[in-house]
Amino acid sequence: MEQYRAFIERCQQLIGAEYVYTSDTDKSPFLTDWSKRYSGNAIAVLRPKNTEEVAALVTLCQAEDIVIVPQGGNTGLCGGATPQSKGSSVVISTIRMNQIRELDLDNSTITLDAGVILSHAQEAALSAGKLFPLSLAAEGSCTIGGNLGTNAGGVQVLRYGNMRDLTLGIEVVTPSGSIFNGLRGLRKDNTGYSLKDLYIGSEGTLGIITGATLKLYPLPQSKVSSLVAIKDINCAIKLIHKARESCNADLTAFELISTRALNLIPDKVKNLGSIIYTPSGWVVLLEFSSMEKEDQSRIQLEKFLSEAFDLDLITDAVIASSIQQSKDLWSIREGIPEAQLKLGNIVKHDISLPISNISDFIKETESKLNQLWPNMQTIIFGHVGDGNLHYNLAPLSPDLSSELETRRQSINQLVHNQVYAYAGSFSAEHGIGQAKRAELPFRKSPVELELMREIKNALDPKNLMNPGKVL
Ligand code: FAD
Repeated sequence: MEQYRAFIERCQQLIGAEYVYTSDTDKSPFLTDWSKRYSGNAIAVLRPKNTEEVAALVTLCQAEDIVIVPQGGNTGLCGGATPQSKGSSVVISTIRMNQIRELDLDNSTITLDAGVILSHAQEAALSAGKLFPLSLAAEGSCTIGGNLGTNAGGVQVLRYGNMRDLTLGIEVVTPSGSIFNGLRGLRKDNTGYSLKDLYIGSEGTLGIITGATLKLYPLPQSKVSSLVAIKDINCAIKLIHKARESCNADLTAFELISTRALNLIPDKVKNLGSIIYTPSGWVVLLEFSSMEKEDQSRIQLEKFLSEAFDLDLITDAVIASSIQQSKDLWSIREGIPEAQLKLGNIVKHDISLPISNISDFIKETESKLNQLWPNMQTIIFGHVGDGNLHYNLAPLSPDLSSELETRRQSINQLVHNQVYAYAGSFSAEHGIGQAKRAELPFRKSPVELELMREIKNALDPKNLMNPGKVL
């Protein structure tokens, strides 16, 4: 650490000594990822307050050839925000950059610092009578910068799109320390390459996003949710189309959940009655949002469900009769990612498929996995309305965890080969990070990879921005 003494002192001068963490205790929460799968080391964790401080730190790192790992809420699931183990990098955490800069209600936009926690952005919009629709289970901890870095999705992509669709402008500190101010609230702007789109989803490898201008939407007057048991997996797909056709209200969320995943949270599902024993083993949690009053929306939902019964698509349904009940239903879905960890080591897959291929993929992959190693079980849930499944595998009992570990690679390979056989993608919304980096060259065409490498090399020729991630 002695060799970095002068560098650390310079960082302290730039942002204040108390915002430069160098002790193991202070650095520790920033060096391991949420899933505890990835750990690294760093010279220091730097916590700047604003864009100018980020620019000053990046300029210093550039001059001293110090590697930078951008970090927001550290909830990413691919190890993208975790430094490498060498200990020769700095983590730049945006967590102190938490200002809402402007709410422009006439333009329906919010401009904010990249370190604003997603739920705070939602609350700021709500307090102005508007909706910021990005919503995911980590929303109490993840940041806008991390959401942009990963092009986050979540449960309302079906209606509002992912983070890229919700973003009009961004501000970035480039690898050379310049500030690119692209905070434009324009819905039309055809002035050359879309640099904003290049940075969204770049996982901290091309610069540090310091601010963003995001779209706001009218606040729905009512939301109604229902948990329905589907007759079989094919019916889920038919039900999406039916839901879109037969309701004036917008279908905002459509989540497929296996009953095995539901049963991981017995406390939360104990009042759901027979639905958790549905013979098909599958339920769908859906939500309609509407500008109409709640009783009107409820009538529409009931009509839709009754037609779905008549068409033999669903076998049972629970309708949330209050806002609290609706929250309870959604807390079941949101509790699954954490609850599955109690099954021991898990092999996770964040995949997307054309929705027309989902049921064939599920059936065929399950049978191939059983042949590979019968001692595992699938835990499947996800945003099936946009073709995104969290297709996870756990051992039949936790004491088989280490055996699962030895098979991790062959399981991944089998699942991902199946995904590509069914025209899908092996990373739907979590990104590449460290987790999928080695596999990327086998999943992208040589031309795409070469273009990505050329872009990275042009913007960050010294490879100081988050090396070892994505490429
Ligand atoms: P971090 O984890 O800190 O960073 C993620 C990546 O972005 C890293 O590569 C990092 O270097 C980069 N980065 C961070 N900040 C910046 C910045 N300012 N500029 C440039 N790059 C930056 N994701 C979904 O998409 N949908 C879901 O439904 C979903 N559900 C989740 C549920 C749980 C329980 C958990 C733990 C995670 C879930 N995630 C989901 C994953 C995660 O929450 C998202 O990827 C989120 O966008 C990460 O934000 P973060 O601030 O925590 O980023």
